[in-house]
Amino acid sequence: MTLRVGVIGTGAIGKTHIHRLTRTVSGARVVAVNDVTEAQAQAAVDSLQVDAKVYASAQELINTADVDAVVVASWGPTHEEFVIASIAAGKPVFCEKPLAVTAEGCRKIVDAEIAHGKKLVQVGFMRRYDQGYRALKETILAGTIGAPLMLHCAHRNPTAPGFSGDMAITDSLVHELDVLRWLLDEDYLSAQVIQPKRTRLADEGLQDPHIILLETTQGIRIDVESFVNCQYGYDIQCQVVGETGTANLPEPPSVTLRREAKFSRGILTDWKDRFVDAFNTEFQEWVNSTLEGKMLGPSAWDGYVVSVSADACVAAKHSGQITPISIPERPAFYS
Ligand code: NAP
Repeated sequence: MTLRVGVIGTGAIGKTHIHRLTRTVSGARVVAVNDVTEAQAQAAVDSLQVDAKVYASAQELINTADVDAVVVASWGPTHEEFVIASIAAGKPVFCEKPLAVTAEGCRKIVDAEIAHGKKLVQVGFMRRYDQGYRALKETILAGTIGAPLMLHCAHRNPTAPGFSGDMAITDSLVHELDVLRWLLDEDYLSAQVIQPKRTRLADEGLQDPHIILLETTQGIRIDVESFVNCQYGYDIQCQVVGETGTANLPEPPSVTLRREAKFSRGILTDWKDRFVDAFNTEFQEWVNSTLEGKMLGPSAWDGYVVSVSADACVAAKHSGQITPISIPERPAFYS
């Protein structure tokens, strides 16, 4: 059986998802595409050589009987409407992060899914599908380093064109907020955000870097350096310090060079290259489970918890205070 997918949003990531669903992932076919700019959707279909119909409206795409499942890859503020419409149509929906741009919007999606009575929503937190993070989680679960006590993490981008305000938290840090609670299987209790000396190389008005200090419900302490104008590469680091050892997120494979009296290895510069395998695995597993009538990936609840946690980090940044993170009790529906 083939999953007939409709993709909403043909910007940067929408196009890569259409490409991977068409050329890399098995079991799916992109049959419908929509973008707020219809000509852009048509251009994506043409350039990617996909046999898909361009729909003038996202609602029409969601409701057509030709589409079995929906991928939402449009601008963040549109996600809530399209995910809720997909739930109303009873269709599985993969939504790029953020699930919604406010915690309240995420909660509405959670409530709509519970009312529908079946899990339909998966959120695009692709780091859970990265082989390195999966190996790190297995190491923790095997007890190899004893109980985790502290995590030291870094999220560095070479530059962050278009970043303003709190986007380092709401757009970038959300990946750490998801993957770290998944690694530890614990939610956060509080956040504090420290603003070190500002780099001169950030866009005007943008604070960069940040240090985000998180405490989990069991008292594990996490520090995340967020530095989105580090210049030298796209560099994601995660070290777990346990009772009897430490475990590090593996570096992406790269040839080591001994040349001209130097020993070196490359560092990737683009997040798309760093996580390409994770994106491919994420979509293959989404297609496989959707065809089996299951929803196994990051849930609407995960999207909601990350949104609540990110809001607390933003509040902590502006107040300079340690800010509680209050996560309501997880509904049995998501246990
Ligand atoms: P983008 O290049 O700006 O693409 C967004 C697309 O959505 C554009 O084609 C835009 O059209 C379209 N759009 C806007 N409003 C729409 C509407 N009402 N209906 C249908 N389409 C609409 O942004 P992007 O980088 O692809 O990001 C898209 C989403 O993916 C964002 O939520 C982003 O956070 C997420 N993302 C996730 C990751 C990840 O690591 N998982 C990475 C990158 C992006 P116009 O160009 O005509 O405005």
